[in-house]
Amino acid sequence: MSGRARVVTRFGAELILRTESGELLRAVSRRNLVKHGPAHLRVSVCGDYVSYETDDGDNKAVATTLEPRQNVLVRPDHRGRPHAGAANIDQVLIVIAPRPSPDWGIIDRYLTAIAALSATPLLVINKSDLSESPAEGLIADTEALYSGLGYRVLRTSVKNGDGIETLREHLHGRTSLLVGQSGVGKSSLTRALDPGLEIRIGELSAISGEGRHTTTVAHLYALSSGGDLIDSPGVRDFAPYEPTADDLATSFPEIAECAHDCRFHDCRHRAEPGCAVKAAAETGRIPPSRLRSFLELEGNSA
Ligand code: GDP
Ligand code: ZN
Repeated sequence: MSGRARVVTRFGAELILRTESGELLRAVSRRNLVKHGPAHLRVSVCGDYVSYETDDGDNKAVATTLEPRQNVLVRPDHRGRPHAGAANIDQVLIVIAPRPSPDWGIIDRYLTAIAALSATPLLVINKSDLSESPAEGLIADTEALYSGLGYRVLRTSVKNGDGIETLREHLHGRTSLLVGQSGVGKSSLTRALDPGLEIRIGELSAISGEGRHTTTVAHLYALSSGGDLIDSPGVRDFAPYEPTADDLATSFPEIAECAHDCRFHDCRHRAEPGCAVKAAAETGRIPPSRLRSFLELEGNSA
């Protein structure tokens, strides 16, 4: 048997594949799946599409080719070396909540990383049931700031179900990744989106023989309402090492636009005379938090 499949997860040298009919298969990867490029991109990872073959015995399937990727999320491993975590991500959900309260610097870092992936961001404000919380002013400001910049913003509550159906619609037909600070409700949202998921996660660890579901590796889950969700623990440091000027222009459109009016075309908006961006931040036309984030990210840029 042979066919096309998607990589659900990898653990050690083994893969779990999901065939086009939805069956889960244990597999190994052919040696030299990809012959060129950096080592960390030559292995198949969660979200990859591969071709596979099986024989009639109960041997494991073999992944024989890796399809070109739409994108791949690369993060430093615990030794600081680049490590491919997940591939073919259409959309990244940045989850925030009144508790723990949002940090605009972190949101802007996520947005730049999402631009570098060429994925679509969606800001999810969870715990909308806590609307009486002292952080509500900050939440309202966050919503106004990012929806004003043209980002999609959605409010949800796992507690009373608000926005969950709308969120399902946004996930339908796409591969999405959830990111956000610990405690904002990522796991709770995942369970609320698909109550059957826990059972399937259990089945997955039975197949992989992982025993307990390992929480350090990315997994791909098919939602019963349609769409795939990538659960990637430890994406907290999900940020490009060195954003390019293009990544920054995409994630800070208001600054890119305003920069046309700077006196110097290569203005870095720090201390240059005739800087339109600095002037706009002083009058509040550009939110000062956005210029701070921009300058910080630009300081690390390639
Ligand atoms: P994660 O670390 O992002 O995965 O967050 P969890 O899903 O573990 O949630 C952290 C805490 O927030 C838990 O105590 C949840 O019960 C709570 N929580 C999650 N979503 C909501 C919500 O919509 N409303 C309220 N009030 N609490 C929530
Ligand atoms: Zn400038």
